[in-house]
Amino acid sequence: MKTLILGGGLLGVSTAYFLARAGHDVIVVERKSGAGMDTSFANGGQLSAGQSIPWANPHAPFLLGKWLGRSNAPLVFHPLKADAALWRWGISFLRNCLPGRTRANAEKILRLALYSRDMMAEIVGETGIQFDHNRGGILQIFRDKRSLERAKRDGEWLSALGCRLEPKTTEECVAIDDALDGDQARFAGGLYSPDDSCGDAHLFTTRLAEACAGMGVRFLYDTEIIRLSTMADRITGVMTNRGMVTANAYVLALGSHSTTMLAPLGMKIPVYPAKGYSVTLPVGNEHRAPRISITDDAVKLVYSRLGQRLRIAGTAEFAGYNNTLTPGRAEGILATVRELFPNAGDFERAEFWTGLRPLTPDGAPIIGKTPFRNLTLNTGHGTLGWTLAAGSGRVTADLVCGQTPGVEIGGLTAARFN
Ligand SMILES: Cc1cc2nc3c(=O)[nH]c(=O)nc-3n(C[C@H](O)[C@H](O)[C@H](O)COP(=O)(O)OP(=O)(O)OC[C@H]3O[C@@H](n4cnc5c(N)ncnc54)[C@H](O)[C@@H]3O)c2cc1C
Repeated sequence: MKTLILGGGLLGVSTAYFLARAGHDVIVVERKSGAGMDTSFANGGQLSAGQSIPWANPHAPFLLGKWLGRSNAPLVFHPLKADAALWRWGISFLRNCLPGRTRANAEKILRLALYSRDMMAEIVGETGIQFDHNRGGILQIFRDKRSLERAKRDGEWLSALGCRLEPKTTEECVAIDDALDGDQARFAGGLYSPDDSCGDAHLFTTRLAEACAGMGVRFLYDTEIIRLSTMADRITGVMTNRGMVTANAYVLALGSHSTTMLAPLGMKIPVYPAKGYSVTLPVGNEHRAPRISITDDAVKLVYSRLGQRLRIAGTAEFAGYNNTLTPGRAEGILATVRELFPNAGDFERAEFWTGLRPLTPDGAPIIGKTPFRNLTLNTGHGTLGWTLAAGSGRVTADLVCGQTPGVEIGGLTAARFN
């Protein structure tokens, strides 16, 4: 069967891999000049099943209240600049902060994240691709006792669901990564997830795309999709700036841009862009950077060691589809890194980047069939698109092939927002 994938980011390319493996004739249409050049380019690098509790959780309204109006807050929301779509999204987000909903959403995300670990292992085993994969685990650090206690309770619950999370004292955290030793007094303890890891999502996507090309997948780069053509309950083609491309089945994996592509078909999905920043520092032998990936809960930043680089990422700004870089915000991130890890890397050669997380109000992706019989969605992965990519790609490929996915996927289709 000929299948066309819209979007060559993490989710599009991982779907292409599993479809090609299943024998499909696959075409990927991507407007950039290569794979993984948009939101999948320079993310925080964490493969973090241990952080499956979504942003929409009972503690979030308190944090939002605390941060409102602060331009340097981890999350920036401008109520006066908000559009109608963001208001609707925000109301749905607040509803999902109810404890029962958070638990149900976290369970869905965790199931897919654990399945993704297995699928990632399959991809790596079969292709041998290298992407600065660092299997040292992920350590979350907490700067006050209350946050630490709350995290420990969440950790117990996630551990019971199959994701090992171990509480650690400050000294134990330093033993796990001695780059933390200069600053022991500033944090109260941590939570370690030994089976999580980090790696370079862009390297992974480009190398997987190369492997896919070797399996016969065709990549149409520099090709902008203008609209989808339909007839009754079927997609009949994709109109691009280079003409019409047709297939039997279509998978939409356009990240934050999925919403605008689906709107003319009468499909409203609540995927909203949440802008995030990253900074990448070269690390030499003279530097003392973290050896693994660390999440700094209080400032909502991650520090991931990717080979001879340190990637720092975080912040969320709800500012529509604008991904311009605000220098003050990027400098603020650098200042936080300098405080915690003064000799982490070459600060003079820091590279800055922004990306738009395709975020749903409940934090879970949108995967599954649609009212159009030959259109499947694989989008809305928000803060965890790298963590969930391999599993989501496999599930989507199974759905296109008419097979039952190897993991429970109830409640992931767009219909849950109706
Ligand atoms: C700062 C930051 C830190 C993050 N850290 C982590 C992390 O540590 N761990 C984690 O799991 N996740 C993380 N994420 C989230 C993760 O990066 C995203 O969820 C993931 O990259 C989304 O992948 P995608 O394939 O859905 O979207 P994209 O990578 O954006 O892919 C969609 C593709 O569609 C293409 N496209 C769009 N419109 C068109 C069109 N009209 N025609 C043709 N092509 C089009 C785009 O060019 C793009 O390549 C982070 C995100 C950010 C911003």
